[in-house]
Amino acid sequence: MRKVLYVYKCAECGKRGEQHLDGDSHDGETSTCSACGASVTLEWDGGVVLETPQTIAAEAIARARECK
Ligand SMILES: [Zn+2]
Repeated sequence: MRKVLYVYKCAECGKRGEQHLDGDSHDGETSTCSACGASVTLEWDGGVVLETPQTIAAEAIARARECK
């Protein structure tokens, strides 16, 4: 199954964290802040995780070409 990026903002310490989970059904689930351990709510970040910076660069180039 594809990995999906979820983000959260910790109400306790203000950390903006991210987690990679299988599938896109974890939106709104409770998780744990990696910095302080408080409960946080996951938010789907809207995209499939890109594995490497090279992949991100390649996609950015592809998008730029599509815009022209
Ligand atoms: Zn925290």
